[in-house]
Amino acid sequence: MDDRPALVDIGVNFHSAQLVSQTAALLARAKAAGVAQIMATGTSLTSSRLAVELAKANPQVVFATAGIHPHDAKSHDPSAQRALIELWKSPQVVAVGECGLDYNRNFSTPQAQRHAFDQQLSAAAEIGKPLFLHCRDAFADFHDMLAPVVADGVRGVVHCFTGDHAEAQAFLEMGLDIGITGWVTDLQRGQALRAAVKAIPLDRLHLETDAPYLAPKNAGARRGPNEPAHLRWIAVALAALLDRDVDEIIRACSANSRRMFALPGP
Ligand SMILES: [Zn+2]
Repeated sequence: MDDRPALVDIGVNFHSAQLVSQTAALLARAKAAGVAQIMATGTSLTSSRLAVELAKANPQVVFATAGIHPHDAKSHDPSAQRALIELWKSPQVVAVGECGLDYNRNFSTPQAQRHAFDQQLSAAAEIGKPLFLHCRDAFADFHDMLAPVVADGVRGVVHCFTGDHAEAQAFLEMGLDIGITGWVTDLQRGQALRAAVKAIPLDRLHLETDAPYLAPKNAGARRGPNEPAHLRWIAVALAALLDRDVDEIIRACSANSRRMFALPGP
């Protein structure tokens, strides 16, 4: 029996072109690497449905989020919202999202993004499930839209947080938790994040690969896309930055994720 604490990966894009045909192998390697539970990210109606199917096929191991990513906000209409409402009722769905705002590339117009986000925020408040949030280059609008919802008691994680100290502190003050990806292992792009994490309390952090994206740079030269089996490298980077033991980081982050998303115990 392995007494290392089990890892929880709160963000894997199993629907991505790089991972879609490989679920069984990905889950086997994740298990071997100590990743006991994984949240499959839903970013559209189609990928949310796939996430729910994966969760049904892998009970106690895979859980789903269901939502429409800001890139796909143009696909949000009343019929999509009705379909999402059905998905959010599924016991396999542990979070509303991925939802939020992304003004970096504006694949959907900011107006469409705000509308889709607003609808998903209202639903989260109604059904009482936490939010799986995405924010890129949209801090002011994102903060303004979330503040009243969070003040009303809705909880959530700002997934793949890549911001600086001030943004991290603003989210923490609102009551949101922070998801950390391999961005924290990037000595160039991750500089602001690496400074910011030092001031994030251990009971507010979550680990996620965001696979197939953001392969951890501290994992050495690797071929192929990122995958949940690489999650431990993010904990290793955090442990070094926070001057803590890796197992202490994993134990805390996994407990935070189980509590936030009501996942079963190890
Ligand atoms: Zn995202």
